[in-house]
Amino acid sequence: MKTFTSMSQWQIYRDKLQQDSIGFVPTMGALHQGHLALVEASRKTNMFTVVSVFVNPKQFDDGQDFKAYPSNHQADLEQLEKAGVDVALVPDAAQIYVDDYRFKVTEMEFSQRLCGAHRPGHFDGVLTVVMRLLNLVRPDNAYFGEKDYQQLQLIRDMTTAFFMPVNIVACATVREADGLAMSSRNQHLDTRRRRQAAALYAALKNSCTANDAKQTLIGKGFEVDYVEDIADRRLAAARLGNTRLIDNVQI
Ligand code: AMP
Repeated sequence: MKTFTSMSQWQIYRDKLQQDSIGFVPTMGALHQGHLALVEASRKTNMFTVVSVFVNPKQFDDGQDFKAYPSNHQADLEQLEKAGVDVALVPDAAQIYVDDYRFKVTEMEFSQRLCGAHRPGHFDGVLTVVMRLLNLVRPDNAYFGEKDYQQLQLIRDMTTAFFMPVNIVACATVREADGLAMSSRNQHLDTRRRRQAAALYAALKNSCTANDAKQTLIGKGFEVDYVEDIADRRLAAARLGNTRLIDNVQI
């Protein structure tokens, strides 16, 4: 595996790459099986797989949350190498925001709802970093998890809106044995909250209505940002202490 911290070095390497098919998995690191499932999906259909590890400061609406975000580059790189990844991109913020964030992508409708309504500027940060990373990597296929369902839809719509020549591939949510969606943020849960956390998936799956699910979660000690049914999905965000969990299921 080759690792690049300099995006100009990577671009020189990318220009010389003659691969039939390049797959790309953007991540914020603290890797788990959910990320590795995306890598596996990419490796299955592409000759070459690129993974980025970049904790994007622009998608955090809360500075404390950014500071506390788990990070372990060494362990991440070892996992990626073992998973058969060809290139790891590990830029810092200056490598990505060469313009000091003068330019950004803003979506005016769906990004204002659900998580966007509770995290101002979050999806501007997400869409902007994904646009930059896709332009840096120029993959044929890019892989995103259904766990971040709103994000996945917005990224898909952005690539269509801007005629970006990439195929967005959705991957199913990978869960722990008790149903909790794997997430880097789960590391923040203490033993008691970790046990409580499984109720999120159960409530979404087993309740008749979004409001029933919300009431169940409140009863189980969650602070609920939202539970909403949109088309065939039920989506939710809820907090246990300082840890914000999101999940969604098909209904
Ligand atoms: P993150 O590092 O949390 O920004 O996630 C990077 C990518 O991995 C995103 O496309 C996520 O949707 C995806 N992902 C994170 N957790 C999971 C999971 N439990 N199952 C499937 N995909 C996931």
